Amino acid sequence: MPELPEVETIARGLARRVSGDVIESIWLGRKREPLKSSAREIAATLEHSRIAGVRRMGKHIVFDLEHQGVGSTETACTPTAQWIVHLGMTGRLQVCEPQAEVLKHTHAILKLASGMELRFVDPRRFGRLSVARVGGFDAGGIEPLEADLDRFLILFCGRKTPIKSALLNQKLLRGVGNIYADESLFRAGIRPRRRASNITRDQLAKLLASVKEVLEEAIALGGSSISDYVDADGEEGFFQLEHRVYGREGQPCLVCKTPIKRIVIAGRSSHYCPKCQR
Ligand SMILES: [Zn+2]
Repeated sequence: MPELPEVETIARGLARRVSGDVIESIWLGRKREPLKSSAREIAATLEHSRIAGVRRMGKHIVFDLEHQGVGSTETACTPTAQWIVHLGMTGRLQVCEPQAEVLKHTHAILKLASGMELRFVDPRRFGRLSVARVGGFDAGGIEPLEADLDRFLILFCGRKTPIKSALLNQKLLRGVGNIYADESLFRAGIRPRRRASNITRDQLAKLLASVKEVLEEAIALGGSSISDYVDADGEEGFFQLEHRVYGREGQPCLVCKTPIKRIVIAGRSSHYCPKCQR
C-alpha cells in the first residue's frame, strides 16, 4: 500500500505532467467499486475542466479543477471543484500516449487537451475516485509535515492508547503508516506501547521532529524516481528508507546491537529496540 511519501511523490510527478492541461472527456469502466461519487457526477465535474494543480492531502491525491464550461459564470483561475483519488492497495495513475496499450483493470481514462491520457488502473479495486466542491473534501486529522508542536501536543493530550496506535490514527494525523510510525518512534527513543498521555512534552517534540525527518527523507529518496510511478508501463518499485527497526526482528540494533523486538499492538506489527527506546 502506498504510504504518505509515495503518495507525495506521485502527486508531485502528476503535478509536473498534467497541471494546466484540460480534461476533454472521460471514460469510466463498468466496475462500481472504484467510484465513490456517481459516474455521472465524476464525468460532469471532470469534463471540460482545467487541472489547476495536483497535491497530496493525507494519502489522497487531489486535483484542483477550474471549470471551463460553456457559459460558465465562474471566474477563470479559481478552482471550483476537486477530483480526489485514493490509490488503495494497488491503484496507479498513468500519464501516457493514447496509443499505449490499455492495461487490464483500467477503470478510468481521461483524454487531455495536450493529447496525452491520464488513466487509473487498479487490479484489486480498493482505490477510490470521487469529486467534491473546493473545501468540501476533508482528509481528516492534521498534516504531519505541516504540524507545529502545539497542534501535535494536543493530539495526544489525555489519550490512554499506546503512542503507536495514536500515530496510526488517521483522525489525528494524516497518512502516517506502520513503517514510518516504527521508524519515527525509534529515532525519538520512545517505546511503541507507551501511553500517549504519559509522554513528556520534550519527548513529543522529539517525536514530531522524527516523524517529519523520516517522511522527508523518504520523499527525498522518491524524488529521483518520480517517473517510475506515472510512466505508461512504470513499475511500482516503491523506494524504501533503510529501515532501522521495521522488519528487523531479532537483528542487532544499528545503535546498540541489542536484538530488535517485535510486538503486536492493535493488530499491527511493531518493532523497537528495548535498550534505545524507553
Ligand atoms: Zn538500540
